[in-house]
Amino acid sequence: MSSKMRALVTYGAHDYRYEEVEIPRAGSGEIIIKVEGCGICAGDLKAFKGGSVFWGDGKKPPYLEVPAIGGHEFVGHIVEIGEDIDKKETYGIADKEFKVGDRVAVEQIAPCGTCRYCREGKYHLCAPHNVYGFKNYLNGGFAEYAKLTKESLIYKIPEDMPLEQALLIEPYACSMHAVDRAKIEADDIVVISGAGCLGLGMITAARRKNPRCLIALDLNDERLKMAEEFGCDRVVNPAKEDLEAVIMELTKGYGCDVYIEATGHPSSVKQGLEIIRKAGRFIEFSLFLEPVTCDWSVIGDGKELDMHGVSLSYGCFPETIRGLYSGELKSDGVVTHRFELCDYEAAFEQSGSGAGSVKVAFTF
Ligand SMILES: [Zn+2]
Ligand SMILES: [Zn+2]
Repeated sequence: MSSKMRALVTYGAHDYRYEEVEIPRAGSGEIIIKVEGCGICAGDLKAFKGGSVFWGDGKKPPYLEVPAIGGHEFVGHIVEIGEDIDKKETYGIADKEFKVGDRVAVEQIAPCGTCRYCREGKYHLCAPHNVYGFKNYLNGGFAEYAKLTKESLIYKIPEDMPLEQALLIEPYACSMHAVDRAKIEADDIVVISGAGCLGLGMITAARRKNPRCLIALDLNDERLKMAEEFGCDRVVNPAKEDLEAVIMELTKGYGCDVYIEATGHPSSVKQGLEIIRKAGRFIEFSLFLEPVTCDWSVIGDGKELDMHGVSLSYGCFPETIRGLYSGELKSDGVVTHRFELCDYEAAFEQSGSGAGSVKVAFTF
């Protein structure tokens, strides 16, 4: 193989360059894959647009360490395996034996293995928090080849799994973790706010818990149609229907048992606090561009809510791979657009516009 590859390299906000770079080589415990495709995450888009979470705000140092190759939602085939791969430091849930030609997916975080969180098994909260695509020593999938480091959590995936399914493994694993945090029971009325890729992943994961009623909210009717196909009992466009009236009627005036916030809009937080019942479970998944303000006393004195945050995809890769492959987790039509890497500007624009697109991916 030639020693150069095409890659989309991040130099700064709005400064991404399509370049030829050296193909990475596998050191001890490392694996090189030929990337088949890589989805564009909301985080990648926010980094492109200069979000302060990624580039710092004068007080916080930037999370991004550039130049770096973006993308963490990628899959590919192993082309090179470093020595001592059998001694690779990894967690019980990841696969341990690999050979050239295996098709694999990788978790977005490469946990250090030594911090307090890693030692307690909560590797997804790892203190250094190194995620693919945001660090120059952890280049992601916006390139023809990628190096999977020895700390990475790597999983084999079936050779005949369609690429449109494989590209959803990472986002759907995050969705599944959100649903796990909600501890849904048979009698619950569950509201999922936001029916983008992650919301749809939550809907199809939540359907398997068979709650009494599963409701999706979105301002986009196309997405609500998909939400229905993915198993929602009821969908509501809050711009067109009186959401509070709908929920109160369904719940005899009490409010929903579970509210999962997956829109990234502050108004969805306020709305959730209004329609959730006392002692309900409020699950927060989103990354917001700005701080959210709301009436905090609703959480305590008002309703004694259980508030649960969600970060990444803790322990959910194996079940997500199995569920997508078996069709139990619905994914038809979620990957709406595929772009060549050189058309990255159009890809980011499509991903950001939301018009007619759910998941946008680069494929090779
Ligand atoms: Zn992502
Ligand atoms: Zn750690």
